Amino acid sequence: MSAIKAGLIGYPLGHSMSPYIHERIMEASGIFGKYELYEISPEELPKYAPILMKELTGFNVTIPHKVAILPFLDDVAPMVKEYGAANTVCGRIGYNTDVDGFLSCGVPMKDKKVLLLGAGGVARMMAIEALKAGADLSIWARSPEKALVLIDECKEKGYEKVKPAESGLVYDTILNGTPCGMWPKVHDVIPDAGILAEGGTFFDTIYNPCPTKTCMQYRAEGKNAISGLKMLLNQAIAAEKIWAPDAHFDDKRLSEILPDVRKKLWEKNPMKMIFTGFMGAGKTTIGRMTANYFKIPFIDLDDKIVEVAGCPIREIFEKDGEETFRRMEHEILKRELEQPGSAVISLGGGVLTNEKNEALLKESKSVLIYLKAKPEVIWERVKHDRSRPLLDAKDADTAYKNMVARLESREPTYERAADVVLEANENAEVIFANVTKLFET
Ligand code: NAP
Repeated sequence: MSAIKAGLIGYPLGHSMSPYIHERIMEASGIFGKYELYEISPEELPKYAPILMKELTGFNVTIPHKVAILPFLDDVAPMVKEYGAANTVCGRIGYNTDVDGFLSCGVPMKDKKVLLLGAGGVARMMAIEALKAGADLSIWARSPEKALVLIDECKEKGYEKVKPAESGLVYDTILNGTPCGMWPKVHDVIPDAGILAEGGTFFDTIYNPCPTKTCMQYRAEGKNAISGLKMLLNQAIAAEKIWAPDAHFDDKRLSEILPDVRKKLWEKNPMKMIFTGFMGAGKTTIGRMTANYFKIPFIDLDDKIVEVAGCPIREIFEKDGEETFRRMEHEILKRELEQPGSAVISLGGGVLTNEKNEALLKESKSVLIYLKAKPEVIWERVKHDRSRPLLDAKDADTAYKNMVARLESREPTYERAADVVLEANENAEVIFANVTKLFET
């Protein structure tokens, strides 16, 4: 059995996932030891770097020390020379396992038109790797001069197929090297700098939340999207392989860690997965299946209202009117969004008619999925349900017309408010399978 003493240096470290990830890798690979956090400020680095190099088998390095650590090392691996930054130290030698993590994600780049967003540390690494793979690379950065600096660096290394991005072009692959969409700003999406081709691939370096809203939006369009969590796990595995080369790294056991890391992330940085849509779209059924699958609580907002009011919704409408109901609905939604922990919430079909609710959702750490079903599909699902006031008409024809009119009036609101629109015309198993695809790690 291999034994190591390892850790992470950085400043600040906050709620780092690294100890959990490394402990899981060690457990799966028969490595005995410890992985601890060392919050070291830039001023303290000269004092502690030599001590840690002596005391530990090795350590990971994060912001702001990835470059600052270099003068303390005796030697560095070729990738560190290439990118001028180290994220892993073993003894007194520096390595860059972010490259291993990125390459292990299998992002298509060979002979592809690739758009890179950002010109920081990770973007720099992805730019060179894309060019090495034979990509035709365009770089976008919010400060265009920073994109030009990176383009010049690439050219100095002998790569010619690299240029500034032009807006409106179509790309086979988009690489996100910006923090857009990272928790807590989960409603941010990547800058609109290019279009992803049909069948194209989006790679997100962001791993929290997993997946980001952008990843989910591309998946809903049927495109391939890879979340940064895989890169995070694989760079950690690469570091363990350096520290404990004799350990047994079993790919199957290691891949099983990924969903657990995501679950842990959802515990530390909670997300609410919210389903909206018209009656009969499947919000409650799919919501419950999703919550069971992820082993997180399920909340049906209408049930909560009934619980608080102590009477059926129809009775609240009849006794107190719609305004009172909508006020209650708003207060209960607010309360549920403020509850600690991740959860799945299904909304009543009329929640978004209150603009205040849309604003509430946009302020919360949540993703709003609109289950979009055709009128004829909805009708088949609900036509015998006389408990629904809208369908309580003199005949089926009138009930159908009432339903279509209401659906048409609400559809634009669902479309506008939703983060992700998912077709919901098939049976529950198919819709649920599509939901799980949206949430792949
Ligand atoms: P970095 O060196 O600070 O670079 C960030 C880049 O994003 C810069 O080009 C920055 O532009 C740009 N940017 C920042 N905010 C932006 C915004 N609102 N809109 C557009 N562009 C914006 O950071 P990094 O180390 O490269 O990390 C970038 C991301 O990768 C982070 O989210 C990090 O968590 C992630 N990451 C993931 C892994 C993994 O294993 N999955 C590993 C490393 C990093 P300016 O220069 O103008 O500020």
